[in-house]
Amino acid sequence: SSINPTIQQPVAGGGGEEEEVLSSEQYSCVSRQQLHIIRSSYSSSKPSPFLLSRLKEYEQRHKRCDPFSESFNRSSREQPEEKEDVELDCRYIVWTPVNGLGNRMLSISSSFLYALLTNRVLLVDFGPDMVDLFCEPFHNSTWFLPRDFTFKKLLRREEEEEEQKKEMPYVASLLQLFLSYDNDDYDKLFFKSETQPLLEKVPWLVLRSDQYFAPYLFLMPCFRAELDRMFPDDKETVFHHLGRYLFSPSNQVWGHITGFYDAYLAKADRRIGLQIRVFSLDKTPASLILSQVINCIQEESRIIILPNATTTSRNRTTTTTTAILVASLFGQFYTELNKMYKEWNEKAGATVVGVYRTNHEEIQVLGSSSHNMKALVDIYLLSMCDVLVTSPRSTFGYVAHGLAGLTPWILQSQDIEDEEQRVKEPACRRGVSKEPCLQFHANYYDTNPDHREPGGPVPVIMDCEDFQYGLKLV
Ligand code: GDP
Repeated sequence: SSINPTIQQPVAGGGGEEEEVLSSEQYSCVSRQQLHIIRSSYSSSKPSPFLLSRLKEYEQRHKRCDPFSESFNRSSREQPEEKEDVELDCRYIVWTPVNGLGNRMLSISSSFLYALLTNRVLLVDFGPDMVDLFCEPFHNSTWFLPRDFTFKKLLRREEEEEEQKKEMPYVASLLQLFLSYDNDDYDKLFFKSETQPLLEKVPWLVLRSDQYFAPYLFLMPCFRAELDRMFPDDKETVFHHLGRYLFSPSNQVWGHITGFYDAYLAKADRRIGLQIRVFSLDKTPASLILSQVINCIQEESRIIILPNATTTSRNRTTTTTTAILVASLFGQFYTELNKMYKEWNEKAGATVVGVYRTNHEEIQVLGSSSHNMKALVDIYLLSMCDVLVTSPRSTFGYVAHGLAGLTPWILQSQDIEDEEQRVKEPACRRGVSKEPCLQFHANYYDTNPDHREPGGPVPVIMDCEDFQYGLKLV
């Protein structure tokens, strides 16, 4: 059915901070209202009452500690009058961007889970390429680190503290956490339960991560009991709930999403999302990937069953219509699929399969707002499909199926040096979970060589389907 939005633009921000508070109060996030209605009509998974109460508590803390609060001023003040004066009631985790949008959305949601577990406040240091993507997630407050905020202030204080280090127990005011794919042994200490009481004393944690590190938090004994209360049943809806809570497309992005959805996808009986992410067209030719996609949807998964053309009547009156959304940086996949299904429609005498795409950027661009907006439009449209086929190793695909709450069909990795250039069999496999994969697992395998999970009779972690040594919640 049609979403038919009435887009209200956010009230233009004024100059001073006071005015920004007022405008955020009046800010109306259309996608949040409309997605709530659309999703509640079909979502089978509901957040637990405990998770809801922790979110409510978080919102109060966020409001109390947000960048407009006195507590924020005190904890980021250049020269605290007294050491004791530092307001430890408000402790922060500041998220900083690294890598593409999928990676970013995954690390933001992991940071938020960490903030929930450790009573911190999540602030984001979005650059100009991200500020227009999402609505403010926390009612009547902001998650943006102020533009004029400088970590140097805190670092200067740090140097002074270094001086005093010998005389008194030393507590850093700022610590940078590197939880990216290339973290080293020192960074990995973060994932030890014993490190957490030390981090608790540090008011500012600044995070650089491109990973969905939430699964690892489940492996840390210090957090497990709380996580089991937040997610008491299956663990494969962690990103689903946190992602839906945090990310509501801005009115501008939502306008593009709904415009496209209403024009092309709404009327179909079934919506199929194909996410075709190719990391290197040199290594994996487009023709090979295309054959793989077709094998997957027509044979392996039998998502689309084409009736034998010779037995198809030209006068069919009842048909199930299918809309295929092709999301890819590269235009040729859409072109070829469109051509193929057009021919079939002609034989069938009706538009039974429609093939659509929103854009084809051809190259990945970092630092561009309009490029990121297009990416977010694709991610959301995919998340509104009924069936998803995703590409292996792609965080873009993880976010789409996680938000949708769908277990995807995952194309088999075709990064091959295979001279015959054959499509690997099977072309795709059903995933094991709706969750994203933690691709770089810190030290899990170092400390658990035989994959044993600490605590809990039921395994909640499995290997990822598409990433050797990756971990995912199930
Ligand atoms: P990953 O590299 O596949 O793990 O996903 P990321 O989202 O982290 O980085 C890929 C980036 O390439 C995206 O953020 C987009 O900027 C761009 N991109 C990749 N696939 C698509 C697509 O299907 N549509 C659009 N619009 N952009 C894409």
